[in-house]
This record gives sequence, C-alpha cells and structure tokens, in this order.
Amino acid sequence: NNPEIGSQTRTRAILNRYHLSAKKGLGQNFLNDLAVLHAIPEIAAVSKTDDVVEIGPGIGALTEQLAQRAHQVVAFELDEELLPVLAETLAPYSNVTILHQDFLQANLPELLAKHFDGDHPIKIVANLPYYITKPILTSVMQSPVSFAAMVFMMQLEVAERVCAQPQTTDYGALSVIIQYQYEAELALHVSHKSFVPAPKVDSAIVKLIPRDGIEVTASQPDRLTGFVRSCFAHRRKTLWNNLVGLFGKQAATKARLQVILTELKIDPKLRPQALTVNQFVQLANAVQAADL
Ligand code: SAM
Repeated sequence: NNPEIGSQTRTRAILNRYHLSAKKGLGQNFLNDLAVLHAIPEIAAVSKTDDVVEIGPGIGALTEQLAQRAHQVVAFELDEELLPVLAETLAPYSNVTILHQDFLQANLPELLAKHFDGDHPIKIVANLPYYITKPILTSVMQSPVSFAAMVFMMQLEVAERVCAQPQTTDYGALSVIIQYQYEAELALHVSHKSFVPAPKVDSAIVKLIPRDGIEVTASQPDRLTGFVRSCFAHRRKTLWNNLVGLFGKQAATKARLQVILTELKIDPKLRPQALTVNQFVQLANAVQAADL
C-alpha cells in the first residue's frame, strides 16, 4: 500500500533510491502535486472506455493516475534511465505499456494499432517536455491518428497563446493553427511549485477537443500554417503590408489582393490579430485559388 507516486514523500524516495537527478536537456520536471495529478485525468474525462497515450511518463506519477481510470495506457519515454524506475513504480498496473522511444520519431499509427484494440477512443495526455512543446503539437495535429481529446501541460505563456482569442496580444499564428482544428481551453493554471525541480515559470493545462463542424475548410491544409505565419510576420503592421511583404509589390499582384480582400469583406488596414480563424482560412483559400 504505497502512497501515490506523485506524493512528495514517494517522489523523493524514488528519486533518492535511483540516484536520479532531473535531466534539464530532456525537459524533466516531475509533477509532485496530487491535486494537479488528480485534475489532469478529470480534465481529459478519462474513463475505462478510453485508451490513453502519454508522452514522457517520467517516474510514472501521471501514468499511475491514468492507469487507474483508463482502459489501456501506452507511454513513450525517451530516457533509458527511467525504464527500470517505471518498471517498478507501475508494476501494479497491468494495463500500462512503456515504450522506450522518442515520441517525435515514433510510428504512432503502427504502435497504437499494435497496443490498442481499436474499439476505444484514444486520448492523449502529457506533462510535456517544454523544449519540444511546439514540435509535439505539430506532430499530433498532423498525425493520421485522430484523438478524441488532447490534454497537455505546457508553459503558461504558451498555453495563453494556444487559447487566445482575436484582438488580444497573445493571439497569433499558433492560436489560429490550433484553433482551426480544435476547441482550445485553458483548463487550469499550475504553479511552478507543483514540480520538482521547480521550473522558473508557471504552467497551465490546455484541453484540445476536435471541432466537430469546421465551417470553412482549408483547401490546402499543408500550406495554411506557412500562410498564417507570414500574415503575422509583423504584428504591428497592417494585414495589407504583411500580404504585400509575402507576395510582392507588383501592381498586378496588389490589384488581385485588393479584389480578394474586398470579396471577403476584410479591411486591409486591420492588424493580423483582428482576423478570426475562419477569415484566415478564407483568405488562405482565396490567395491559393488565385495562384498568388
Ligand atoms: N509525466 C511526468 C510527470 O508529470 O511528472 C514527467 C514529465 S517531464 C515534464 C517530461 C518527460 O518527457 C520526461 O520524463 C522526459 O524524459 C520525457 N521526454 C523528453 N523528451 C521526450 C521525447 N522526445 N519522447 C518521449 N519522452 C520524452
């Protein structure tokens, strides 16, 4: 009857026994706040009908909470030194598989087909290694695996950008690209004190749920990200100046751009942060159709 892995006493005991010191280069900040550890599966609404993918189980604190509530859990851990630790801490849970893999290099469809039965919705949950937050978000968004929900702990500042609404300072390319596919909610603010070692900045838990009715679909989804980033290249400049910066100053190009913006009823003098997600998608579709 061990205390939970994420309790302060148990975490300390595990770290001591294995002589572990957190590897900064791998983004290791272990959660040892039980209130937060209990909140994460709640936010993801994990139940016995769900299979769960975890990125970076660490010493297993969150994995344990997921294992208790989920059908099956598959967790990707890059740090070889943690494998014997996880083998011991998660020994009581027969529904957990630890894969020693770099999540970013993993063949997700193949591995999940191997370890999950395909009859349960798949959710993905992680206290992210912060040095690869954006590559992980990109990789899950582009993955052929569709996740019923994604719940990620990330730096507060990044969480605010992911969830930001138009006309705010935090709203930018990241907000548009994520919110094109997902409803994004900043579910919980988490103090830096909830981790060992404590990082310098606070964190937050973000919940992403696939949008069911996407009103405006990108005709070339692969090109949406690049286009939106270019629109935000200079936030203080107008949308018009950003577009001219992207497509060039030729009179014919400017005339076509003008027609597109008029048709879409988008004022060229707006700053990029004034456009909604749908407006960015409409604009991307129109400039691509016009072959600009
Ligand atoms: N889940 C644990 C917790 O909440 O206490 C640990 C979270 S810690 C912020 C991030 C974890 O991701 C570490 O265990 C680290 O070794 C692992 N990690 C880092 N890069 C990874 C990668 N590319 N693929 C899989 N795991 C990775």
